[in-house]
This record gives sequence, structure tokens and C-alpha cells, in this order.
Amino acid sequence: MPLDILPSLLKESKTKIVLLIMDGLGGLPLVPGGPTTLEAAQTPNMDRLAAEGTLGRSIPVRPGITPGSGPAHLGLFGYDPLQYPVGRGVMEALGIGMDIGKGDVAARGNLCTLDAKGNITDRRAGRISSEEAKPIIESLQSIKVEGVKAEVQHVKEYRFALVLRGKGLKGDIEDTDPQGTGAKPLAAKASNAGSKKAAAAVNEWTKKALKILAKQPKANGLTLRGFGGDPALPTYKDAYGLRAGCVAVYPMYKGVSKLVGMDVVKFSGESPTDEFAAAKKVWNNYNFLFIHVKKTDSMGEDGNFDGKVKIIEGVDQAMPGLMALKPDVLIITGDHSTPVKMRSHSWHPVPLLLWAPELAFRDEQTRFGERACSQGGLGTLLATDIMPLALAHAGRLEKFGA
Ligand code: ZN
Repeated sequence: MPLDILPSLLKESKTKIVLLIMDGLGGLPLVPGGPTTLEAAQTPNMDRLAAEGTLGRSIPVRPGITPGSGPAHLGLFGYDPLQYPVGRGVMEALGIGMDIGKGDVAARGNLCTLDAKGNITDRRAGRISSEEAKPIIESLQSIKVEGVKAEVQHVKEYRFALVLRGKGLKGDIEDTDPQGTGAKPLAAKASNAGSKKAAAAVNEWTKKALKILAKQPKANGLTLRGFGGDPALPTYKDAYGLRAGCVAVYPMYKGVSKLVGMDVVKFSGESPTDEFAAAKKVWNNYNFLFIHVKKTDSMGEDGNFDGKVKIIEGVDQAMPGLMALKPDVLIITGDHSTPVKMRSHSWHPVPLLLWAPELAFRDEQTRFGERACSQGGLGTLLATDIMPLALAHAGRLEKFGA
């Protein structure tokens, strides 16, 4: 369980919780004393919520650890990413919309270049373009392996994802990437007896793939790494007693939500307005909604300060559509920081806003931004603390002990 005592404390309530995530929300000033993107953005609606609620900062995994969005979301959902590691292959597959069910095994794959002796000369097949690589990966989709269903899909450039489905599969398998050139790709080796069947299937699939790839000039080989299976996480229903829905545009966030038993809400469009309209449509079906905005992170990674400001302002302008639904508890935060000046994810604590008009302590902060959040009443906490706080403010937790 995310927090072992929670299931014993849960009580019924009619309250509804919304977790609104702006990916990579946190930032840094471009110049000392200057504003961050969140501080520069005009956000009258979120500022009002900040004034009525409590601010703080959340640490995605542990202080100083820069997370990927997958583990960072698990943390937001209350599952310590260190206690529930999800294989990189599983994240890669989820990221392109492949399903990962119980008993499936996934891996990340690289196309590579082999010399006449079968030794690797380029671990990324000359950074082959997506246009060239996609049909090559599609040519591997016809491979049949006895007793197992193998699915392979192109990701980007030289990268692909492989998913094996069948009975008796486990994903404790070592990488086949020798981590250097001048060596042959390794055979897939099971780390324990339970994973032997899957490892044998991987080797059979690879053998057949190499035959197909043999006529390719630069992508005539492949390596596989990050093997793993469905992490079998407790569901939101079991852990929190919540019927949970996910409103997201990008596949990986839908995939991570499915891992914790959320339903993925279907809708068209991709703006915050579209997402809040989708939330409205399904409002009566759920008592927890996770809503994900991706472009804050994309703009941060592009080093686009004004672009990130605009995305945040767009979310703020759409907020009346969400608030009209009258959630009892609203959490607004990010999964990690993506400072424009770093053009990458970072470890910095993420601005956190807790709004629950009935029960939240009003601190003295009146604007949603990094500096205000660092002075906020919630202090700095781990992302895994957010769900228990949300449940408590939603009146969904009994007293612990007499
Ligand atoms: Zn992220």
C-alpha cells in the first residue's frame, strides 16, 4: 500500500477530489531576483485559490533526485517510486500507448549497427531518423514466438518498445546491451528461475528479428534493456477507496494512471478548456479526477520562458470551468520542476496549492508562485504525502488510534 495505515482509516464520504498537474511546473528565475515562469504568469484564478487555501512545496522522490515523469507521477499518486520501481521498458511502452497488463513483460529496444563478425559498431544505428526506422521496426511485427504474443512498436529514431504477453512470464531479465562497441549483443539472461520462459522467448524473437534486419545497411542489429513487468500496484480503490478517472492527452500519463487502476477518460481536443469539459462530462462517475497538462514541461525543456508563462496563463483562464464543478478538495502542483534555464527536469521542490474551503488552513500567502510556496503553511513535503492530505481534507479518513 502507498501508506499502510490508510485502508484501515478510510471512511465513506460524498466528497470529490481533483489533482491538477501541470507537468514540470516548478522553475527558477532566469536572473537573480527575477520571476520564475509561474511568478511571471498572470494567474488571478489560482491566486484567489492560493489566498483561500494553503501553499507549500513538494519533493518528487527525495531531495536532490531529478525524476522522470513516470516515477514522479507515481509519487504524486502516493506510491513511493523507490518502493515501487517501474521498469523503464514498461514506461517506454506506456509512453507510446501500448497496454501493460498483469503478466506482461516490456523492454526498451535500440536498433544498432553490427560488423561482419556481429560486433556492435554503432549502438544507435547512426542515429537513424524516425522516417527510416519506423518501417524497419514495423517489419518486425510479423515475428511469431511460440506460446507468447510479441508486440513491437517504434518509439523515436533508433528506439523501440517490445512487449511480450503470455502465461508464466516474468521480467527479471538482464540487458542485452553490452554498453559499448566492439562486442556482440548479449543473450537475454533470466535473473531468476521465474523469468526463464520470458528470456527464452526474447532470445527466439531476437534471432528471428536479426534475420529480418540482416539486409539493413545500418540497422542490422538490436539490443534490449530495462526489462520489467506490470508492477502490480495496489489500486486507488484498494488504497484510498476512490473511484478515480484520468484526464490526460499524452499516452504515458494515461498508462501510469491505468497502473493504479484509474479509468482513462476519452475526450477530444487537448487544451485545458477541453480537459475541464471532459472532467465535467464524467463528474458524476468519479470521486477523484487526475487532470494532466503536459505543455508546461515541453516549454521548459525548449527553454521557452514566454511559452511556459502562456501555458500557465491558459490553464488559469480555463479554471472557472473546473471550479464550476465545485470540487471539495483541489490540489494544484507539478510532478517535478523543469526550469527554463536548465532546459531539463530538475530536483527543485515543486509549488503546491491545497484548496479545500471547508477545512484548509489559510496561510498568509496570496499568490501562487515559488517564493510564496516556500513560505506557505504546508511547508516542504514529499509528493507521497499529498494523497493522505487530500483524503483528510476530503473528510475521508478516521482518527488513528484512540
Ligand atoms: Zn513530468
